[in-house]
Amino acid sequence: MLVRLRKNVPEPERAAVLALAGELGYAVRALEPRRELLELSGRGAPDHRSRFEDLAGIEAILDAGEARERFQRAPLAPDTLVQVGSGRFGAGHVTVIAGPCAVEDEARLLEIARGVRAHGATVLRGGAYKPRTSPYSFQGSRERGLEMLARVKLETGLAVVTEVLDTRDVEAVAEVADLIQIGSRNMANSALLSEVGRLRKPVLLKRGFSATLREFCLAAEYVLAGGNPHVVLCERGIRGFDPSTRNVLDVGAVAALKRMTHLPVIVDPSHAAGRADLVRALARAGLAAGADGIMVDVHTAPSEAHCDGHQAISLEEFAHVTADARALASLDGKRLSTLVESARIESTCVELAR
Ligand code: PEP
Ligand code: MN
Repeated sequence: MLVRLRKNVPEPERAAVLALAGELGYAVRALEPRRELLELSGRGAPDHRSRFEDLAGIEAILDAGEARERFQRAPLAPDTLVQVGSGRFGAGHVTVIAGPCAVEDEARLLEIARGVRAHGATVLRGGAYKPRTSPYSFQGSRERGLEMLARVKLETGLAVVTEVLDTRDVEAVAEVADLIQIGSRNMANSALLSEVGRLRKPVLLKRGFSATLREFCLAAEYVLAGGNPHVVLCERGIRGFDPSTRNVLDVGAVAALKRMTHLPVIVDPSHAAGRADLVRALARAGLAAGADGIMVDVHTAPSEAHCDGHQAISLEEFAHVTADARALASLDGKRLSTLVESARIESTCVELAR
């Protein structure tokens, strides 16, 4: 590890750095006469960087070396592949998630699920618990919504992603969800992150709308540190100044995250745009920037949707979005997950295991 001390660092602060280095088993060598640049040699661990950063005498960790956090890409290590039902995210696989913003009634959910399945989605989205800005807006159909998701999942064979807002609901949500969503507003909720870190079920972590990429990755680190390695990151737009779009889809973040981390990264063009007419363009942009999937709001009657109807696209438009996804994936030498392909993979695995 390479660390820089503060300029003219007071002696007690330097001593605290040396004491921590000793405690963690590092040998310390000063690299220049003012002794502000230190090389620490020893066995690194994921928590070491943060422990040094907490000390007043530290200006910066210039190279964490072996003290790499779990989210970080290690030289030559492969990308993480997260499997959710038939959907595969990362390591050369692209998956399309689609469905309504919220679970409303069962007939509607089934109609949308059948529609998105027919057009290439392998994972169904739908919030049972909704994190709404206003306490007076529709808060979701809650437990009833989970039951509807469970039945529609059985009926269609689609895997399901749904959001959890509260640590007390994690168990109930995990029973139905194949992918547990932690939304933007909860990205930094360390209690919730730790709770899903105790599971062995994939987690979809959405970026907080004002979170830096390091903050986003460290939120994922809570889940990874808990022992759950199945994390998919989702860029869903950050706060901008222009009300023309709901948020600003940060495509640069997608490309940057793919360098920072081995975890799969997807984009949500619907919550970024906040308007249906831009969703296709933003989905294309996200995939072109290297995303391993997209999550899209689709509705068969947007004008009747209980929430976010203006950003939901029709099945017809969704067909264009998946055609784009297939084309862009193949341009990058990646494969778009399909229900059929995955059934074949599963049966291959079964045969090998016999
Ligand atoms: C959602 O995906 O339903 C949602 C609420 O999104 P976000 O957390 O990104 O606002
Ligand atoms: Mn929404």
